[in-house]
Amino acid sequence: MSGWGRYPQIETEVVYPASFSDCSQRIRSADRVIARGLGRSYGDSSLYQNMLGSRYLDRYVAFDEESGLLTCSAGVSLDQIVSTFVPRGWFLPVTPGTRFVTIGGAIASDVHGKNHHVDGTFCDHVDRIDLLLGSGEVVTVTPDEKPDLFRATCGGMGLTGMILSASLKLRRIKSGEMEQTIIKTPDIEATLRAFEEASGASYSVAWIDCLARGKALGRSLLVLGEHAQKGSLNAKPGQGISIPCNMPSGLLNPLTVKLFNALYYNKVLHSGKKSIVSLHSFFYPLDSLQNWNRLYGRKGFVQYQFVLPKSSGLEGIKHMLERISHSGRGSFLAVLKVFGSANDNLLSFPMEGYTLALDFKVEPAVFSLLDELDRIMLDHGGRLYLTKDSRMSEETFKAGYPAWADFNEIRTRYQAIDKFVSGQSIRLGLNS
Ligand SMILES: Cc1cc2nc3c(=O)[nH]c(=O)nc-3n(C[C@H](O)[C@H](O)[C@H](O)COP(=O)(O)OP(=O)(O)OC[C@H]3O[C@@H](n4cnc5c(N)ncnc54)[C@H](O)[C@@H]3O)c2cc1C
Repeated sequence: MSGWGRYPQIETEVVYPASFSDCSQRIRSADRVIARGLGRSYGDSSLYQNMLGSRYLDRYVAFDEESGLLTCSAGVSLDQIVSTFVPRGWFLPVTPGTRFVTIGGAIASDVHGKNHHVDGTFCDHVDRIDLLLGSGEVVTVTPDEKPDLFRATCGGMGLTGMILSASLKLRRIKSGEMEQTIIKTPDIEATLRAFEEASGASYSVAWIDCLARGKALGRSLLVLGEHAQKGSLNAKPGQGISIPCNMPSGLLNPLTVKLFNALYYNKVLHSGKKSIVSLHSFFYPLDSLQNWNRLYGRKGFVQYQFVLPKSSGLEGIKHMLERISHSGRGSFLAVLKVFGSANDNLLSFPMEGYTLALDFKVEPAVFSLLDELDRIMLDHGGRLYLTKDSRMSEETFKAGYPAWADFNEIRTRYQAIDKFVSGQSIRLGLNS
């Protein structure tokens, strides 16, 4: 078993309880346990010897057509919600770059989308969570009821209990299509400036050529989006293709990655290009390439996603990109987004600033490069995203998440600390 990055891997099996009472019984009798959704976190946050999968907790409970409030079990996936509700004129308020994520996983990672600067995180739209505690008791937590437990559970990586169900507010849409504009920028200064100029856009994301050097350092395609006001509400994804098996690990080498990045950047000839695209191709481009994690070979890959505050963002990102392009170990695709203000959740990742996500094939030299990037990132006041992490040190974590001690106090208060444990929580010093 592993996360999406296929690093690290352990030998174990997932148990899939068939009902809430089955979950309760298993948690009461377990020594230590962690909840698992669709395994789209990259590292070891849903990885432990004893894992409880939410596959069969897949029911809708209620939907209010007036307010858009949806209540469902924690194993319902965003894919399910998109297929059911887009044809009825509703979409997710916030969505990550894959729809193969469960409601439980989206809350536990307090995921963000391309609209954080406008709409905040996923949990900012969650009104209520039913949480199974280590004692086997189910409690309802809301921003007002047990607010300490709510703030620890949202973004808490499954370490406060198992989420059984939740209520979240969907957003109205008139079309299943998106109006997309692509802006081509020549370097990192221009990219960040373009983000600021586009701060009124509902959605924004940039794909950076992270192997470009010198004057072209940080050249990007900035993609902006708005929900179209008319068009079909048909939400069916296009026919995807699947990577059938592990690719030879030499396939992604500095040369092929550099070539891919250059081709990608140059595929857009004119800055300001506008088009109408489907909701699926705008939000979930990678989902059409099933099992794309096999491209990195048997040993897998790590994703490195950091955020830097606005004040040090330009200087810090430049420094990191210089170091990465110098190493020649650039990422297949590097994704840059802008974040609005942070929320109050104790371990939520976003803070006002810029976030960059990069993939690195697992090979021995990568880990020392990433340790070096950690130091640059901390020097600029940043932190790493827990749901993408598989290797950061306890020191890096605690420096980036100063509320970790409050988080553990709340876990102790609700008897979660010795019960809900992952490979990651042990590595980061949240459990011994
Ligand atoms: C291609 C791709 C693109 C992505 N894009 C983004 C993005 O744009 N923005 C973003 O924020 N993230 C992104 N992610 C990360 C992904 O959204 C998160 O890792 C998400 O948490 C995965 O959900 P999951 O159901 O697969 O949970 P898992 O990976 O199985 O688990 C993730 C965490 O949630 C906990 N958890 C799962 N279910 C429950 C439950 N029922 N109760 C309590 N805890 C639970 C686990 O213990 C673990 O800590 C992306 C991932 C991929 C593979």
